[in-house]
Formats: sequence, structure tokens, C-alpha cells
Amino acid sequence: MFSRILIANRGEIAVRIIRTARRLGIGTVAVYSDADADALHVKMADEAVHIGPPAVTESYLKASRIIKAAQETGAEAIHPGYGFLSENPDFVEAVERAGLVFIGPSAASIRAMGLKDAAKRLMEKAGVPVVPGYHGEAQDLVVLATKAREIGYPVLIKARAGGGGKGMRRVDHPDDFAEALAAARREAKSAFGDDRVLVEKYVARPRHIEVQVFGDAHGNVVHLFERDCSLQRRHQKVIEEAPAPGMSEAMRAAMTQAAVKAAKTISYRGAGTVEFIVDVSAGLKPDAFWFMEMNTRLQVEHPVTEMVTGLDLVEWQLRVAAGDPLPLKQEGITLSGHAFEARLYAEDPSRGFLPAIGTLDHLRFAEKAVGEAALRIDAGVREGDAIAPFYDPMIAKIIVRGRDRSAALSALGAALRQTEIAGSVTNAAFLARLTEHEGFAAGDVDTGLIERDIDALVAPAEMPRGAAELAALVASGLIERAASDDPWEAIAGYSHFNGLAYPVSLGREGKLDRLAITIYGPERFILSADGQTTPVRLRRNGRNLLLTGPGIFLNATAARTAGGVTIFADGASSHFPVPDPLESAETEALPGERLTAPMPGLVKQVRISAGDMVKKGQLLLILEAMKMEHTIAAPHDGMVETIVAEGEQVREGATLVRFAEEEARLP
Ligand code: ADP
Repeated sequence: MFSRILIANRGEIAVRIIRTARRLGIGTVAVYSDADADALHVKMADEAVHIGPPAVTESYLKASRIIKAAQETGAEAIHPGYGFLSENPDFVEAVERAGLVFIGPSAASIRAMGLKDAAKRLMEKAGVPVVPGYHGEAQDLVVLATKAREIGYPVLIKARAGGGGKGMRRVDHPDDFAEALAAARREAKSAFGDDRVLVEKYVARPRHIEVQVFGDAHGNVVHLFERDCSLQRRHQKVIEEAPAPGMSEAMRAAMTQAAVKAAKTISYRGAGTVEFIVDVSAGLKPDAFWFMEMNTRLQVEHPVTEMVTGLDLVEWQLRVAAGDPLPLKQEGITLSGHAFEARLYAEDPSRGFLPAIGTLDHLRFAEKAVGEAALRIDAGVREGDAIAPFYDPMIAKIIVRGRDRSAALSALGAALRQTEIAGSVTNAAFLARLTEHEGFAAGDVDTGLIERDIDALVAPAEMPRGAAELAALVASGLIERAASDDPWEAIAGYSHFNGLAYPVSLGREGKLDRLAITIYGPERFILSADGQTTPVRLRRNGRNLLLTGPGIFLNATAARTAGGVTIFADGASSHFPVPDPLESAETEALPGERLTAPMPGLVKQVRISAGDMVKKGQLLLILEAMKMEHTIAAPHDGMVETIVAEGEQVREGATLVRFAEEEARLP
């Protein structure tokens, strides 16, 4: 076995590989870009080597720099993780030329499966079922359109170099073929530098079922059962599970045999996944599945296989790369229970899943699964870490295993609803809703499920009544005193603060609410705003806050961060920005100076005009940045000379408001 390996990756997968290496007593070397200098994988590794600026082409894709880092640190092998250099045969060859071991398959195996058309031709020859289609060399419109007609519409045009669903176009009618072909080619050219395509039958009700395979250097190949990854959005996996719902023994035998045959055909070594598309218009049938492609690396979703087999796939990868035979024979690999994985991303489902960035000011995962289920969180970030714009915005993978599918699914839902993140929008609520989807719960899945119900799945969650009131109480800081576990403090808080009105400003739906909070008894407060008063009672149970009042019954948790307060209830979260007048006074303009944008963003709303007299603390404008609304308040009294226009996109440091000079001279 190796004594030291280098991990040519970042984020959760680098962390996950380090964990197994450590357990096996193998030293670890991390690599990092400028953006990752303080990243979790860097902190966890025994040693870390800086490899360049944030851009991946300058760092995580820089093969020569990574190989040099391995040589300098005495690493004997390189684990590529997934993505980046994991399926790059030139990298494998360079690693081997440098006298190091690549923890993965041979360059020849990667090449054989690298292009979808060649891989399909190879599989067809080996007798593995392949989606009916044209995988030949000819590329001109007339030939491809003729083939499409022969295959029968609808058809799917796919980039042969494709990945991540790019360069793929479904065509329903011959009239649309030429245009779709041109679009697929353009996309393929820009994404992969290769505009060649293949055309295949579009499977009407497809399920994506893949088989985990493993080979060693001694000619052994086994499978570790299947995973169902049918829950997809724009051809990208969202929730994966093992085993596939409704899988029959006959179907499983046919699929796993085909997968093992595929791996054997290319003398496969290491972890690999054979992806199949299954037509479920007539249920799962052993003659209705076809080879789609083989991923010659560890998959993002490998943990579901680990959960149901009890095996550590990274350990197997290391053993096989070190020349050992596979740790188990096929008969020794068993399946038990049911596992799910949900991919938690910094992205905004209500805006077309736009990737988000931000600093994870507050990050809390479920601590244990409900009932007897097991919970595993694979995260690459900690609280306080930033989701940078340079990389995939994945925050974590939430993985559960239950005794059966329904136990596992409810454990997944519970774990997602307990996830608390402030500082970035996430898809947590969307994922939690998916776990409640009737069709999904029934195991009636196909790749179109999410798209069909997308509106309901991404509709913004209604914040329960009382959320703003609770946020105001948290923002006031009073509850730390009044709801203290120490009765003396609570009472002292009461008598001491009784009658005093605490002003609190809270951003809410783009406006600034000004409230006054009065304590009128232990756990009892009155909130007043715009002449309206709301008496409430607030109790605390551990981290849970229970707020009751007229029409209010709210059980929630809260996070106080630099930018405001986030309330978490029923799996949804709501952020209330809290302007910090102290901070503005310190860091923002002095009288006569300018008020500048703290970060790049969009001027969402301007609440004043040039010539207005404003008071210190008054809301001037709302800046939308990093998917959140930030209120910009006046740092002092004064007259506004100029103000930025509503709708303008501003750079960090751009002038938002300029105050008049005369006013500046007033105290
Ligand atoms: P990529 O490499 O870009 O991810 P794949 O070939 O793996 O492309 O396909 C990605 C997804 O696209 C599949 O999981 C499936 O949902 C869908 N898909 C692929 N081929 C077909 C097909 N012939 N018919 C219907 N859907 C398909």
C-alpha cells in the first residue's frame, strides 16, 4: 500500500478521500488554489501545496504543476477525485511517465469510453445493448437527418464528447432537425471543442439506472449493484438512490451482467460506472435497457452504494491501484437496506437554479437521522467558508440509509428540513419538497419527474406567521437576556428593562420595518410598528424558539449573522437583513463623502431623491447582491446630492450616494 498520496481535487471529494486515506494510515497531500487557501481539504491534509490562482485552468487543471507537487512532497500516487483531471487520459500518461501511480483506470480504458460514439460502437460489438441510433463517422446534415428518420422521431442529438447534459437536443419533428443539429453543434464546440454528434432514439419515459463496477489488475471484475439517478433536472442528477425502486432480480441480473461485460471488454481497473437508460413506459423490463456511457472514475453519488453494501469504495480504489486483488468476490458483496443522496447546492431554484455565491455565515446539518436510519454528511465546507464563483457550488451531500425505501426517504426529508444555512440561497427546501413528492415516494420515477412538477417544487415557501416578529426579537438581542435559562437573569431582565422600548430595524420584502420592542414580563414582549401592537410570548427549548401570540404559533430556529437574522421553520428559511448603524458609521462615509457599494450588485430600490434631507439610520436604498437584499442606511444626517439610479448594476466600491458639502460641515 502507498505511504503517501496526493489528492488532485478540492471540496467534499478531497475531504472524503483524505478520511479513508487517514483510516488506512496513508499520508495525504492536498493541492489548492488561492481561493482555497483556508479550505477544509487543505486544513485536513497532512500537507498542502499551493498550485495557482483560482481559475481552474490555472490550478486544478494544471497537470504539470500537480505532478510536480506530488514529486516534491514524496507522494507515490495521485487520486483525481471526480471532475477536473479524473477522465483525462493525457494526465494519466503524464502521471505514469513521472513514475507515479494514477489511482484510476488506464489511459487506454478512459480513451475507449471517452467518446460516446466510439464507446457505443465498442459496446455494440461486445454484445451490450445500446440505444438504437447512429453512432457513425458521417456528420453531414443529410446523412444525420436520414438516420433520424430511420430511427424514428423523437430523437436525441448528443455531442459525442458530451458531458453534464451539454450539447444535447431532443427533436420531435423532422422540420426542426436542422436547427437543433446546429444548436447542439454550437454548444458542443464551445463546451468540448468537438462538434461531432450522434443521433439516437429518444426514450419516452426514461429512467437512469447505473451499475457500479470494480476491476483489478488481475483481470477480476465485479459489480456493486445499481443506483437509480432518475431524479434529474436538465440532465443533471439531483437525488440518487440504491437500490433502484421496483428492481426485479431478473432485471438486476441482466443489467449487472451487461455492466460487468462492458468493463471486461476494456480490461477495466478501478472504480467505474456503467450508465444505462431504461424505458419504463411498460414498467421495468429486462429487455428495455441500453448502455448510455461509462464513467471511468468515482461518481459523486458513490456513497449510496457504500451505504447499502457497507464497503468503502475509496479504500477499494487505493487497494486496486496498489496492485492488490479486489477485496471481495462477487458472492461476498451483498445489498442491505436502502440509501438516498441529495445534492445540496448554493443555487436559487426559484430563478432557474441560478448558481449562487456567498459566505456561509451559519451552517448546520442534521446531527442524526430519524429512527434507526443512518445519516452521513459529505461536506467540503465549514461554517464561515465562502462559496466562490470559480467552482461547482455544491455545499454538501446529504446521505441516509434506512431499513427500507420509505424509512430512508423520510429520514432524508427530515435531514433536509433540519439543514440550516444562512449567507447564500440553497436548494434545501426544493430537495425537501422532492422527498414529499407523491410519485417519488411511490418509486414511480423517471427523468421527467422534476420538470413536470417544477412550478410546485420551486414555489417560494410561505414564511409562517410570526417569522418577522421572531427575527425582530432575535435582532434586538433582548431574548438572550429574557429567555435565559437562569431565572434570576430572566427576572432581572424583566424588571430592569421593563417599560423601555427597544428600537429594531428589519429589512422585510425590500422595505425597512421599524419596530419597538417592550418587555412586559418573563418571556413576554410587545412589538409595536406603525401604531400596531402585537403581544407575544417567546419560549426556548434548546435551539428551538416557540413564539406564540395572536394568530402566531411558530416553532423555529434562528441564526444571527453579520447581515441580519435568518429564521428556519419547516424546512424553509427566511432572511431578514438588519442594518447595522454602528458599522455604517465606522466603515462608510464621513459627512461630505460618498457611500459606496460594499459588494457588486443590483440597485433594487431607491427610497430617496437628490435634495432630500435624511436622518442617520434612514433606509436609502436596497442593494441586491449575492442573491440577497442588503439595506443601505444613512451613516449620518445630511442632504443627498446625488444617488445611483434604480435598476443599475454596480461594481464593488461604486458610489451609491453622495452627500452635499454644506451639510458635511454641520456637526
Ligand atoms: P452526459 O454525458 O452529457 O451527462 P448522458 O448520455 O449521460 O449525457 O445522458 C444524460 C441524461 O440525458 C440521462 O441521464 C438521461 O436523463 C438523458 N438521456 C440520455 N440519452 C437519452 C435518450 N436516448 N432518451 C432520453 N433521454 C436520454
